[in-house]
Amino acid sequence: METPKTPTAIEHRIREGLSRLDSVLRSEDWVRARAAGLNPTQHAILEYLAGRAEGATVRDVAFQLGVSQPTATESIAALERKSLVVKHASTVDRRTVDVCLTEAGSAALMAGDGVPDVLTQATGTLSDGDKEHLLITLVTMIKRLQDAGAIPIQRMCVSCRHFRPYAYADTAKPHHCAFVNAAFGQRDIRIECRDHSTADPSLQAATWGVFHKG
Ligand code: SF4
Repeated sequence: METPKTPTAIEHRIREGLSRLDSVLRSEDWVRARAAGLNPTQHAILEYLAGRAEGATVRDVAFQLGVSQPTATESIAALERKSLVVKHASTVDRRTVDVCLTEAGSAALMAGDGVPDVLTQATGTLSDGDKEHLLITLVTMIKRLQDAGAIPIQRMCVSCRHFRPYAYADTAKPHHCAFVNAAFGQRDIRIECRDHSTADPSLQAATWGVFHKG
């Protein structure tokens, strides 16, 4: 039995903590999906497609959501019947089909806007320093999971070819985004950026080395 004298490993207790947060997120996802008349997988697909004007393949959707391809195919077919998504031939590879959000799909996502977001509210009570520390810890965790092949590349600054970490001596805004040609701070690091462009592996490794050391 765990006691203060014989604690379980810190990694185990962090996992327990993350699992509690996951329960809150899942329960909110259910409420948000229900408000849109969808199940959580269908709702998550709409969220994934939002901000991806070019759309995504069924394979991408399955990979990003961590579901099987048949599950993604079935969910996308249900969304298509409701006119919330459309499929069209990819502009990059005519042999593949991209799934895109429709206007009705965007409206369905907004149906959940009024659902209280208790996790964001709780995060809002942290100090600015704690928020920034948490954000960078999350980026680091996601990067480790990507490196382990547990999740696909996310649209984070640290894997973006436009990211120039610690390009400036200004401690408030040390980083540079070449896409918008502007300096930005540690607290502005993106986890999901629609302008992200994946850097090649060697650039990603070099960028991470500079960012992590800083
Ligand atoms: S384009 Fe987006 S992901 Fe890339 S560096 Fe700029 S803010 Fe970060």
